[in-house]
Amino acid sequence: MLHACIVSTGTELLLGSTVDSNCMFLSQELNHLGVRVIARFTVGDNREQIKNAFINGFKLADLVICSGGLGPTFDDLTKEIACEVAGCQMELVEEEVKHLQEYFARRKRKMPEANLKQALFPREAIILKNAKGTAPGMYLKKDDKVLVLLPGPPREMQAMYMQEVESLLKRDFNLDEKQSANCTIKVMGPGESQVDEMLMDIINEPRGCSIVLLAHEGEVHIKVTAEGENSSHSKQVLREISGRIESTMDRYVFGYDDETLAGVVAQLLLTKGKRLAVVESCSGGLLAQMITDLPGSSRYFWGSVTSYSNEAKVRFLGVKEETLESYGAVSRETAEEMARGILSKSGCDFSLAITGIAGPDGGTVEKPVGLVYIALAAKDFCTVKEMHFAGGREAVRMLSAKTALDMLRRQLQYGGI
Ligand code: ATP
Ligand code: MG
Repeated sequence: MLHACIVSTGTELLLGSTVDSNCMFLSQELNHLGVRVIARFTVGDNREQIKNAFINGFKLADLVICSGGLGPTFDDLTKEIACEVAGCQMELVEEEVKHLQEYFARRKRKMPEANLKQALFPREAIILKNAKGTAPGMYLKKDDKVLVLLPGPPREMQAMYMQEVESLLKRDFNLDEKQSANCTIKVMGPGESQVDEMLMDIINEPRGCSIVLLAHEGEVHIKVTAEGENSSHSKQVLREISGRIESTMDRYVFGYDDETLAGVVAQLLLTKGKRLAVVESCSGGLLAQMITDLPGSSRYFWGSVTSYSNEAKVRFLGVKEETLESYGAVSRETAEEMARGILSKSGCDFSLAITGIAGPDGGTVEKPVGLVYIALAAKDFCTVKEMHFAGGREAVRMLSAKTALDMLRRQLQYGGI
């Protein structure tokens, strides 16, 4: 399997002022092609740092792919240093000089002398067109190694990778033949270690397949990559393993790959022609936001009431004062009355209600921070779940909203939670 090292250059990446999204993009794309990324270096716009990254990159990997530092300014050094490390001389490429002159002429600007360095390339390099900017990239095959230089601005880098680099890598490394297959199975409910335990047998069985668990905002993403002898063998291995994971995780599985919990629930409501109303206390409108983040949500979403105070619960939802007095605002009984109240006011098919203690203050021994009641109501039933979430205020709110969505998802998919 082809091994790659990604080098990201830019002092701003080290200062933490810019997120290294190029690295994420390249990791995902290379992984998708069946190339294994074994190391990533992030270095500043500094000669020594960049040089070390290239030297080490070539020690470790067959492919070194770098972004940033192709501009005309004095701190744009990558091409010069990469060529020095690869042992190549650069020379002025007439055609590239012409491109630059035309670019500036079109904008009625005089070309600064410094820009000429963007037309310097080793004779053996393939020059990569930049459809979205001025700095061309470079693809250099030398001995058994490949060096790819891409511009730093993410739009330019992504376009160049997709339009120019991917096909060259496929050609030079015969990647289509060895292509791996992958998918992500998303579950909600059990935590990462619980999923790990449930899948233990499958994970421990070596069969040309890697299974990685990623906890993400209350969800667990099971990333499966199959590395077969060729693309169709990989797909076959993937299907078999995914099938086993699905039957083990069963109703916890809510979606695949790019699907989101809110998106899956939206699709279910739409196909069943059902409408939803929501009432939120401790989540403060987060659930409504998750639902309305999706365009077209008015087709199935009636709206929400953020009933934070007791008064709002009583006046707008018809929660009984006695209920609040006897059981408190954070209780199974209040959650149920909130859900039933909004259901009858809205005339919807389903309603969700959330009441809990998000913290950091307000917890007691009987009702600690993280205690949340979530109710799901329809005309003929109301179910309330008692949850004990860990984490800070943000986490408790987010987990409350996600769990509410998941209760509805299971009701719509399986007729019960
Ligand atoms: P330019 O001609 O703009 O100088 P360049 O190839 O030299 O192009 P850089 O100077 O490294 O690119 O970066 C230009 C812009 O791209 C900056 O705004 C920078 O923050 C952003 N950028 C660079 N590298 C990354 C990265 N790894 N992830 C996200 N953004 C990046
Ligand atoms: Mg630059």
